Amino acid sequence: MADSVPAPHPYANTTAEFAANLAAVQANIEAAAARAGRSAQNVRLLPVSKTVPEERLRQAIAAGCHRLGENKVQEAKRKSANLADLGVEWAVIGHLQTNKAKDVALFATEFQALDNLRVADALDRKLTELGRTLEVFVQVNTSAEESKFGLPPAELDGFLHELPRFETLKVQGLMTLALFTADTGRVRTCFGTLRTLRDRARESSPELIGPGELSMGMSGDYELAIEEGATCVRVGQAIFGARNTPDSRYWPPAGPTD
Ligand SMILES: *Cc1c(COP(=O)(O)O)cnc(C)c1O
Repeated sequence: MADSVPAPHPYANTTAEFAANLAAVQANIEAAAARAGRSAQNVRLLPVSKTVPEERLRQAIAAGCHRLGENKVQEAKRKSANLADLGVEWAVIGHLQTNKAKDVALFATEFQALDNLRVADALDRKLTELGRTLEVFVQVNTSAEESKFGLPPAELDGFLHELPRFETLKVQGLMTLALFTADTGRVRTCFGTLRTLRDRARESSPELIGPGELSMGMSGDYELAIEEGATCVRVGQAIFGARNTPDSRYWPPAGPTD
């Protein structure tokens, strides 16, 4: 197990502080991409603003955040209404219950946690009614027993074959959460699994996987994720500052970290 102590996430409140944090993360993205022989232009930084109040989000938006990620639908809906004057786009990145799909269809540009057909159907019905489309990522469970959300890898191919009938859903690629562990080898394995699944889908049915994006990596592991091929990293705390709410509010508790 690695025993390095991660640097604390610096809190940001002003436009200048957000600009500084964004620049620091962007510099890390560029360094990680360079290590992997990749172009940082192929890595999108999605700032994740959950728990951050609207007043602070105005500063983050002024500092250059054009699309924000939120885990909970009600919170995202409220923020999208209160910040509608700023033209910011919204990505819902958390597990969705079927009865909340209608809400997501109303305001989101992107949904990154698609893992069941009932939700796909509910989204498609509402989007059709509204004349909207939605970018979607299929969430895959790459950490086996330690996460409740996401498709088991063995079910991905069958699932992708079901999606074309939902014409409003524009498949962008795959999304995963890695294990929460200091063991970087095991974290890398999760990311590598997602990349392999994407590569296989591209080979066997390229028409089903869209641009084949890989959304993987958060504040604690986005550099590793980029080394493993991430094209979208979802970063909250490294931009906004440490969160007080436990992560178990957003995803089921992982097993003991080891
Ligand atoms: C909160 C969240 C993130 C970002 O986590 P940070 O530790 O704040 O970077 C990424 N993905 C999902 C699904 C999240 O809920």
